[in-house]
Amino acid sequence: MMPQRIIRQPEEVRCETAAADARWMLAALGAARAAGDAGEVPVGACVVSCDGNRLLAVAGNLTRTNCDPTAHAEIIALRDAARVAGNYRLTDAIVYSTIEPCAMCAGALVQARIKRLVYGARDERAGAVHSQFRLCDAEILNHRMEIAAGVLEAECRALIQEFFRARRNSDRMK
Ligand SMILES: [Zn+2]
Repeated sequence: MMPQRIIRQPEEVRCETAAADARWMLAALGAARAAGDAGEVPVGACVVSCDGNRLLAVAGNLTRTNCDPTAHAEIIALRDAARVAGNYRLTDAIVYSTIEPCAMCAGALVQARIKRLVYGARDERAGAVHSQFRLCDAEILNHRMEIAAGVLEAECRALIQEFFRARRNSDRMK
C-alpha cells in the first residue's frame, strides 16, 4: 500500500511555524535571562534544525565572563552548533536571537550559510539585519537567508530595556 500523502493547507503550516518560532524564542529568552543574571547584556540565541525538531545549541552573551569581545550569544551558539553538526556550514539551520544581530553576528550568520534567521526585537542603534545595515539579505552576497522579525518582541525588548535601566540607575548612585 502506498503511504498516504498528507496535504496541508498553507494556513496550517504558518500556524505551526509560528508556534515553533515562539517555542524556540523562549529557549533563547531563557539563555538571555541567565546571561543577564550573570551581569552580561541579556541577549540569547539558539540554533535549531530546520524541521524545528532539534536544538543544536543555545547560548547567552559571554563577553564579560570570557573577556572576549566576540563572545556574543549568536557567535557562541553558531560555534557549538557547528561542532554538534560536525559541519561549519549550517545550511539546514534556523537561528533564533532575542535581539537583531549586530554586524559581527550578521556576518557570522552569512558565513555559516544558515537557512533562516528569526529575531525578537530590533536594535535600532546597531542592528545589522534591518536597522542600520542589511547584511543578511544584501544583493552583493551570494547567500541570502529567510528573515523573520518580531517574534516575542515585547518580552525580548523588555528584558534588555530593564537591564540598561538598572545599569543607568546604578551608575547614578555611584
Ligand atoms: Zn553580535
